[in-house]
Amino acid sequence: MFEVVIGLEVHVQLNTKSKLFCSCATSFNHKQNTNTCPTCLALPGALPVLNKEVLHKSIMLGTAIDATINKTSYFDRKSYFYPDSPSAYQVTQLYTPVVEHGKLQIDFDDGTNKVIRVNRAHIEADAGKNIHDGDISKVDLNRAGTPLLEIVSEPDMSSAEEAILYLKKLHSIIRYLDIGDANMQEGSFRVDVNVSIRPKGDEKLYTRVEIKNINSFKFIEKAIELEVSRQSEAWEDGLYEEEICQETRLFDQVKNETRSMRGKEEAADYRYFPEPDLLKAVVTDEMLEKYSKIPELPDEKRDRLMKEYGLNVYNAGVITSSVETARFFETMMQEGISGKNATTWLTVELLARLKGDVNITNSPVDAKKLGFLVKRIEDKTISGKAAKEVLDYLMENDPDVDSVIEKLGLKQVTDTGALEKMCNEIISANQDKVEQFRAGKEKLFGFFVGQVMKKSKGSANPQVVNEILKEKLS
Ligand code: ADP
Ligand code: MG
Ligand code: ZN
Repeated sequence: MFEVVIGLEVHVQLNTKSKLFCSCATSFNHKQNTNTCPTCLALPGALPVLNKEVLHKSIMLGTAIDATINKTSYFDRKSYFYPDSPSAYQVTQLYTPVVEHGKLQIDFDDGTNKVIRVNRAHIEADAGKNIHDGDISKVDLNRAGTPLLEIVSEPDMSSAEEAILYLKKLHSIIRYLDIGDANMQEGSFRVDVNVSIRPKGDEKLYTRVEIKNINSFKFIEKAIELEVSRQSEAWEDGLYEEEICQETRLFDQVKNETRSMRGKEEAADYRYFPEPDLLKAVVTDEMLEKYSKIPELPDEKRDRLMKEYGLNVYNAGVITSSVETARFFETMMQEGISGKNATTWLTVELLARLKGDVNITNSPVDAKKLGFLVKRIEDKTISGKAAKEVLDYLMENDPDVDSVIEKLGLKQVTDTGALEKMCNEIISANQDKVEQFRAGKEKLFGFFVGQVMKKSKGSANPQVVNEILKEKLS
């Protein structure tokens, strides 16, 4: 009887070389406060200059979500005081953002989909970091002035599931475009979740609660579920007006609850006004032309892999959900193997062997090697079972596939002469069974195949053995 309403704000840190308004490096693992200058320290008299690379990446994102890219956009000041922001304001784009009116499609498991509207994506400067250390707090301004794109959805999602699908899709787009590393744990993809409920069928938007900075998809899902039950319980108890107010809440993963952090500021509290130190941001025709040529996106790649390699929609979705997996798969396919086998060996066999810090980007067995291993199954050099042994070996050691096959003695015997000899030996050693077979006991066929396989220590190609035995026994 309630409908859930969710709108998401995502802060994506752009992977530019230098900061938004100065030439300080954006790299992170540097000594505290070394990547700073008068501009990002907000010393009096220092003037900001816009980093063009930020516009380029904004155009790419705007193109990917089918949005309007404003040829002129403006910067505004949002005033607030916090120790990690020496200027006591944040430069952002309130009135005219660089990107507006986009959309993003989410796909459900049952094959249906839904389009989520994106209200805007605007450029803003990140703050520094407060580091709390016992009784003292320190401020590190290395991050101050790092470019962010804040991507704001319309309140179009109506369940935690839809919110997660939207976030995963957006995350994957950022990675495909390579405009940010979108690492949630490190804070380069930060999500604020706005949640409200309303009676089913009601068009009006009710009071929203904002839950800030939750750093994993799992916790976002959890936080939404907790917030929805808190709000609907309040409603059912007749306490909605009393208990639900527009505020910022915090998700506590230990206590498994959301709790109030502060009352929600109104825009007026921030005293927004046009940033006087910066020129308008201009997207030229040349820029637009150049940066709207974006790489293939996850959905397009999924559709192409289905068409080109005959993958089903599920597997194609698994492979294209991350750009690294997709690249790995496509490199494997250069060995001219079947899409189905490549999928199995990548998503079942290899992924199961990757543990801890080892993932697809630093896998000891790279895509070329795994592709080649699959090729050796397909050309019948080894059996699938033997290939698992080869893969186990390759996870620990570095030689090439063929020398491992040699070393472990796993080469399949396909030489008909040798196999024929083995078959003859088995047949003459089991004359009684041959007679029973010829008299109609057909299930004995498996016995003969098994004996030959055993004799060859598993190296015989079972298909060839089958053919030879069929001929000899009939
Ligand atoms: P603020 O910066 O104050 O959080 P924004 O306009 O940037 O405001 O973002 C508001 C976000 O909240 C948007 O994603 C919007 O879709 C969402 N939102 C607005 N009203 C509601 C509501 N009643 N329920 C859920 N989400 C909402
Ligand atoms: Mg907000
Ligand atoms: Zn600087």
